[in-house]
Amino acid sequence: MNQDKYYFFNEIFWISAGLIALLLFGYVVGSPWFLFSLGLLIYIFWHLRQLTRLIQWLSKNELDMPPDAGGFWGDIFRHLYRIQRHNRHRQEKLVVLLNRYKESTEALPDATIILGRNWEIEWFNSKCISYFGLKKNQDLGQPLTNLIRSPVLLAFIEDHKADSNQHTLEIPSPDNELMLSIRLIPYGSKYLLIARDVSSIQKLKTMRRDFVANVSHELRTPLTVISGYLETLEEHLKDEPVYVNSIQLMQQQSHRMCHIVEDLLLLSTIESNERRTLKNDFIDMNALIMMLKKEALVLSNGRHKIEAIASDIKWLKGDNNELQSAFSNLVSNAIRYTPAGGKISIRWYRDKNGQGCFEVQDNGEGIAEHHVKRLTERFYRVDVGRSRDTGGTGLGLAIVKHVITHHQGKLVINSKIGMGSVFRCEFPKKMLKNN
Ligand code: ADP
Repeated sequence: MNQDKYYFFNEIFWISAGLIALLLFGYVVGSPWFLFSLGLLIYIFWHLRQLTRLIQWLSKNELDMPPDAGGFWGDIFRHLYRIQRHNRHRQEKLVVLLNRYKESTEALPDATIILGRNWEIEWFNSKCISYFGLKKNQDLGQPLTNLIRSPVLLAFIEDHKADSNQHTLEIPSPDNELMLSIRLIPYGSKYLLIARDVSSIQKLKTMRRDFVANVSHELRTPLTVISGYLETLEEHLKDEPVYVNSIQLMQQQSHRMCHIVEDLLLLSTIESNERRTLKNDFIDMNALIMMLKKEALVLSNGRHKIEAIASDIKWLKGDNNELQSAFSNLVSNAIRYTPAGGKISIRWYRDKNGQGCFEVQDNGEGIAEHHVKRLTERFYRVDVGRSRDTGGTGLGLAIVKHVITHHQGKLVINSKIGMGSVFRCEFPKKMLKNN
């Protein structure tokens, strides 16, 4: 017999036995139905009494021992007590776990905010108080963008909706001098925002950039003076073949150094521009492509076949000087590293994802795969001698990468030894305008 049936038949047995006994006793004393009804009433009253005790016991906050009761009410109290004790135990464990989690997030060196699907703040750790000036009892439930009024952060969030694989954003803290690196991590329908203090890294980067810029600046004047004197010397000693050769060599080297200094200064300027938002200027890409073709024809001096293909996308948002020097670098590289008779194509087109692509393709010497990922490092050259011979500084592709990143684009390099190379700059749709 299972437990339910046992309780049922046990109860029926005892109540029937009690009522029959009362009925028989009633016949003896002369009022059987009165005693029978009295017995039933007492039975109902007893159940009501147990129910009241149960409600009183359940409504207490503390977990007290259950009231003493006989029959199946005793079992009900015992079972409920066991379930309650088990739940209480689980609750205590969860509270401990939650407190531990809270303590560990409080100990994190980064500010952490949990954001709901509409960017409302659901929870934040205390680092957010100093980083963003959030207030514990006031700002929960408020949209983040109402509290941190930074247009860059707003644009970052908008971009994140379109492409959740975005990298990080660096913004100054709204409340103090700190520089924060922000990451948004989606999970379920919510977001986790992590802000890290990168002020010291930023300071080091600024120091390095300023150092390079200052050294380059200081070198520029003496180099110009040396070049000038070398020109005068060459003029004076043109009839002395012993000196002419040495003077020409010195001139070559000083020109090369001038070139490096100019490139270093350009790189520092681009790096400091990177922290500023782009102006709303639009560049006529078709005109730029035609200008690049002319430049390429001059550089190539008839040694290569050069073609330029423009597209229906007329405008690209950005800085004219920066883009021009980046694109010129790619074109001049293609000419310098493609032997005479080679073909160079300069293209501006819309790819299948709607992005704007500026591409320079050559069928020159190509680059081995292991070099490709390092090409954009400063002074990285596949063949140092060859780069120097062709007037290279090793800074060209570093400049290109910085310019493209500043324009929210991506530089993609595809190359195969002996087959040639493709350097493609991809710009997101929002940077393009048709007319
Ligand atoms: P450099 O001034 O030496 O040309 P860059 O930064 O412009 O410096 O280029 C880095 C290196 O990448 C070059 O030294 C060269 O070896 C390689 N490179 C760049 N463009 C091409 C190309 N179109 N074809 C082959 N190699 C290239």
